[in-house]
Amino acid sequence: QSQELSQAHIDYHVALQALQEHGTRMVCTGKMHTDRICRFDYLCYSSEAEEFVFFHSNFSVMLPNLGSRRFQPALLDLSSVEDHNTQYFNFLELPAAALKFMPKPVFVPDVTLILNRFNPDNLMHVFHDDLLPAFYTMNQYSDLDDEARLVFMEGWGEGPHFDLYRLLSSKQPLLKEQLRNFGKLMCFTKSYIGLSKMTTWYQYGFVQPQGPKANILVSGNEIRQFARALMDKMNITRGEEAEKDGGSAEDEKVKEKKDDYIVVFSRSTTRLILNEAELIMALAQEFQMRVVTVSLEEQSFPSIVQAISGASMLVSMHGAQLITSLFLPRGAAVVELFPFAVNPEQYTPYKTLASLPGMDLHYISWRNTKEENTITHPDRPWEQGGIAHLEKEEQERILANKDVPRHLCCRNPEWLFRIYQDTLVDVPSFLEVLKEGTKTKPSLKKAKPSTTVYPGRVREPQCQTSVQTTNEAKLTVSWQIPWNLKYLKVKEVKYEVWIQEQGENTYMPYILPQQNYTFSENIKPFTTYLVWVRCIFNKNLLGPFADVLMCKT
Ligand code: UDP
Repeated sequence: QSQELSQAHIDYHVALQALQEHGTRMVCTGKMHTDRICRFDYLCYSSEAEEFVFFHSNFSVMLPNLGSRRFQPALLDLSSVEDHNTQYFNFLELPAAALKFMPKPVFVPDVTLILNRFNPDNLMHVFHDDLLPAFYTMNQYSDLDDEARLVFMEGWGEGPHFDLYRLLSSKQPLLKEQLRNFGKLMCFTKSYIGLSKMTTWYQYGFVQPQGPKANILVSGNEIRQFARALMDKMNITRGEEAEKDGGSAEDEKVKEKKDDYIVVFSRSTTRLILNEAELIMALAQEFQMRVVTVSLEEQSFPSIVQAISGASMLVSMHGAQLITSLFLPRGAAVVELFPFAVNPEQYTPYKTLASLPGMDLHYISWRNTKEENTITHPDRPWEQGGIAHLEKEEQERILANKDVPRHLCCRNPEWLFRIYQDTLVDVPSFLEVLKEGTKTKPSLKKAKPSTTVYPGRVREPQCQTSVQTTNEAKLTVSWQIPWNLKYLKVKEVKYEVWIQEQGENTYMPYILPQQNYTFSENIKPFTTYLVWVRCIFNKNLLGPFADVLMCKT
């Protein structure tokens, strides 16, 4: 194995002395264990104890210094899954003086990112929980570059997708079990622990039924940048770009039309589409396009990505393989099929992904509503949806139920039973859903890459007032355009003015096309009004309000 850490880079005695004198230093970001990432100098790991060790000296730093709150419940989450009690990180503490009695430490010279993979066997989890968070955690800290070392502490083997983790840096990632190869005490010269949760969009249902995260912070742009970086590492030329090499606009159109194709992502062991050939024929006929099939069992992952990156449509049974829709070009459609009794609205990791702002994918779901078209597997092991181990009554209840009720992760037998059914796809109803879904947005694969730019504040807001009679007054509000507008081509610029009588808790909103307006309705003499003004681009890009104006009539 080629995991030698070149000790040549660091002077061993200097490092040892630094550790003994300075001890460990830790500085973290984040107020809570759920949003914390920590950076360490000289954090050590004892493979004997299977614990990280913080060495105290007069010079050590521990920020935040939480005292025993460090265990309530943990210093931080080692995976990107929020507050999961199997994913907590903490360290043990020792005085640096104890080093004298300990095995000689081995120093790791690389800047290291230490994390837990959440479920490396499942492609969706690999991308959503590990690759995207690790990619953007590395983006956040400039010394976590292409030379960074990743260490996976969840304790699993490489898993089927290890090649994908290898793309994150040029150095071979280390697994927990390999750490003992480096001796009893290993000290990381510089390390980061934890993963950014900024890019995750789905929660798996540990505390409430699964669904989109409450506060999604990622847009299609970041997903696409990540996809592009990964494709570069896999040496894939994207479908999109391949189309753009020369030729007139007309040629382009013809070529593009000719090159339009649909990808059917098939599963070959569980949750099958039983009439895949029929489905493929129907798709080809309906859209007059080539249809290609891919499967994880039959293709290399890069060749799958290559196919998907140029596709107009991706069709697949619900399942982890649908995470590859993040490689689709803008404007493509994602068509997700659901087995009988499974409500598409309740299982939406791929719908949420496709619907991220700026992702520019059309999402369509189809669900099998014909019980005669489903094949169940009651006798399989429970984790593949078998129910034979359950009480007779419970089995009968499940079989009679036509809709899986909302449930928590991860072992609900009714859910597993239904999600692992095979399906004979009813082609007429499938095409109906597809036609309906693609009708509303007719231009399949029409890229409309427009960056969203929000207005700045309106400038120099002012008000002027005048009293007309004892019960009539006027309020004139004016302002200048936001600074950034003069450099932008914006289709529609409008302004919103809110007027509130001081002391009241309601306000009147007005939408105006111009930069000033005189209000006279509902304006009373000898009254103070609070006035807010903001700019709006293209109906829904709301800018910030300028400082409130106090206007006395
Ligand atoms: N998988 C596959 N072919 C199959 C069944 C599963 O390639 O016939 C892959 C799937 O994409 C995922 C992993 O095996 O990466 C685990 O599949 P499982 O059905 O447990 O999870 P799900 O797809 O429901 O997330």
